[in-house]
Amino acid sequence: MERKLLKTMIKIDHLVKNYGSNCAVDDISFEVKKGEIVGLLGPNGAGKSTTMNILTGYLSATSGSVSIAGFDVLDNPMEAKKHIGYLPEQPPLYLDMTVEEYLIFNYNLKNCKLDRDNHLEEICEVVKIKDVYKRLIKNLSKGYRQRVGIAQALIGSPEVIIFDEPTVGLDPKQIIEVRNLLRNLGKEHTVILSTHILQEVQAVCDRIVIINKGRIVADELTENITRAVNQNRRFTVKICGPQAEVLSLLRQKPGIVYAEVLAQRDGDAYCYNIESEVGIDIRKSLFYSLAEKNWPLIGIEALGMNLEDVFIAIVDQSTASRARYTRKEQSPSRERSAETEFAKNATESAAKKRGSDYSTLFDDDES
Ligand code: ADP
Repeated sequence: MERKLLKTMIKIDHLVKNYGSNCAVDDISFEVKKGEIVGLLGPNGAGKSTTMNILTGYLSATSGSVSIAGFDVLDNPMEAKKHIGYLPEQPPLYLDMTVEEYLIFNYNLKNCKLDRDNHLEEICEVVKIKDVYKRLIKNLSKGYRQRVGIAQALIGSPEVIIFDEPTVGLDPKQIIEVRNLLRNLGKEHTVILSTHILQEVQAVCDRIVIINKGRIVADELTENITRAVNQNRRFTVKICGPQAEVLSLLRQKPGIVYAEVLAQRDGDAYCYNIESEVGIDIRKSLFYSLAEKNWPLIGIEALGMNLEDVFIAIVDQSTASRARYTRKEQSPSRERSAETEFAKNATESAAKKRGSDYSTLFDDDES
């Protein structure tokens, strides 16, 4: 894989952070290569901010090491920090400054050597804050303040940009704008962002590292997770025929791993949810099996698997078998089988969980 050839910009090695007896980060290791956009995803309290704060040198680690562009954050903090632009969860804004004053203040603070006026103008262009450049920050909306926070992170054109929960508190339109901005920044910079919003990492990141209770429970390319999510494996079907016998056929049919009757009906048809094995498209053979019995199939609707299902599945499994999915440099065939296993386990666990209320994990989601 080409990733191997790319420079490692962030290296986290066996990182541990204890707050007294509370272990917030529990032996985390992963790397981010040049040009990658990686999302650190996890529920509140998972250890994302703690990891971000150690990455940026705001917090010291209990053990383990972190390096940025090859510079150890502890041993060589000045060099490491020169390569970082950081947007903390609460952007460090001085509300009584204008945007211009604030950006010049940060420019001086960072001892930036780039041509000041051109550089700041370029940044304002990228984050779209030119129209508020002379305004006091305290008079700006939350969305504009966030963009000013992103602007300060970009001063000095750092190679690595670190965003902690960049869209928290924004309205849906602002969220889309900031996500587009992050995607664009990923073309020029290495980006790591933390979020508890599943759609955010899917929309923005190349790779997703999921952490739960301070540990990595998944490290996957976004496309693998998306593929698992989008597989045609769960359907609601509407079938005219005797309910108990139809259910029995569904449950016994090879390729179907799960079938249940739903409460709703459509005329004389009963409705069922079914789920097929990984890699099997059950639709045609189901049609023929039902036709043989003279039980008309009058509706079939794909349900897909949402990211919450995948997340719950992984977190569930991590409890049973820690860090099972930690990704190493893999050959294509190993990667394919890891992906298949990932999809299979995710579905099985989601099926077990079906009917339970997932919403508590995502209480703070934007929706
Ligand atoms: P996240 O960013 O994923 O929401 P945090 O890194 O903020 O998670 O927190 C991880 C864990 O560490 C939580 O249990 C939190 O309560 C705890 N924690 C965070 N900061 C402190 C602190 N300064 N003192 C004690 N415990 C803390």
